[in-house]
Amino acid sequence: MTQERPATTHPSLRPRSAELYERACRVIPGGVNSPVRAFRAVGGTPLFIARAAGAQVFDADGRAYLDFVGSWGPLIAGHAHPAVVAAVTEALGRGMTYGAPCAAEVELAERVVAAYPAVEQVRLVSSGTEAVMSAIRVARASTQRELIVKFAGCYHGHADHLLVAAGSGLATFGRPSSGGVPEAFVACTRVLPLDDEAAAAELFGREGARIAAVIIEPVPANHGLLPQRRAFLHALRELTRQHGALLIFDEVISGFRLGRGGAAEWLGIAPDLATFGKVIGGGMPVGAFGGARRHMAHLAPDGDTYQAGTLSGNPVAMAAGLATLDLLERERAWERLEARAAELEQLLVPVLFAARFPVHLVRVGSLFWLSFHAAGAPRVAAPLSAAESARFAALFHAMLDRGIYLPPSAYEACFLSLAHGPAELTRLVEALSESLAMIA
Ligand code: PMP
Repeated sequence: MTQERPATTHPSLRPRSAELYERACRVIPGGVNSPVRAFRAVGGTPLFIARAAGAQVFDADGRAYLDFVGSWGPLIAGHAHPAVVAAVTEALGRGMTYGAPCAAEVELAERVVAAYPAVEQVRLVSSGTEAVMSAIRVARASTQRELIVKFAGCYHGHADHLLVAAGSGLATFGRPSSGGVPEAFVACTRVLPLDDEAAAAELFGREGARIAAVIIEPVPANHGLLPQRRAFLHALRELTRQHGALLIFDEVISGFRLGRGGAAEWLGIAPDLATFGKVIGGGMPVGAFGGARRHMAHLAPDGDTYQAGTLSGNPVAMAAGLATLDLLERERAWERLEARAAELEQLLVPVLFAARFPVHLVRVGSLFWLSFHAAGAPRVAAPLSAAESARFAALFHAMLDRGIYLPPSAYEACFLSLAHGPAELTRLVEALSESLAMIA
């Protein structure tokens, strides 16, 4: 599927990025190594980043931007936090990978187990996709069942059987699914709407005995930010328990961001399995999945369920994760982020209210989303109209011109980090106020 690029490109302002993009398009599909980076939803050509520090990224043309993408979530401490850089530098000197166990991976695993009561054992991998894919395999092995239930709009990485009604880049492209995934590969996947206990109960009534697991982002953040009613999540906990299915919380975004114990702690719900990524790697490629010992015991080498990785538990990546988790504890990060984000909410609400068209702020801890849905902030995955999408694209470019880097898609949430202080919040609010006024 090709999409027209809107005419709002400003390559003349960013010649070095434009040149890199042109080169990239020759050798990398779409010029990017992950689709949403390509600016297709907002038009124009992507910034190529040359360096980053604190709350800022600097593009190849030397322009500075205040960053609210935060590499899509890992950088809760900000870019190149000195403590993380020091830990990584130190680890690098001791070798980049061993392919054999090391102390740092034990420490990171201990940290996850201590923080997340539902996790007695955890295995470390190199991405969120891998974490989810492996957790599903464990759920199927442990229950001896085949069906997986996911929710429309939730994204769980790009494993074949989960590329059904997914969010993230797929929401951006308005595609319900993906090419290259045979029907047979999704035959064991069921998709439910969010926010609908009755639909879940009905499905369990019909196929409950075949359902291995229900997987959900406890705070869905890949189709905009769609905080769920606690009662709905509790109903899923109950239904899965009654039917002997596992509940999997995909905490790749929420884990160690909404609090030490992730969304599970925040909601007071213990899942059977949980997946992690982003923050636990502190910016390095790390994912993890874990749960009760009786489920995790199915994994090889103890059990018959295979899962492996050449770079799993990589010592340099572990160092970044450990340093990040250390500083989150030391700096009482979650409390501070909540206070900062609440401050931002107070500043933003009147600015959004003054806009000539509907824009709503949705915030959960240090995650926030500007919803351009005219009908208000949705609780289920809802597509934006062409006019709403065009408004977001205009806002995105107006903000970029003011040195603010928002996610280049109306469906993606923004991330605050410890590096976003009062001055950064003020800059965001001022730029937003000006930009909204410019858009009819
Ligand atoms: N699960 C969720 C909830 C995610 O947001 C993502 C990525 N944004 C993934 C899984 C996949 O993680 P990765 O991109 O590291 O493979």
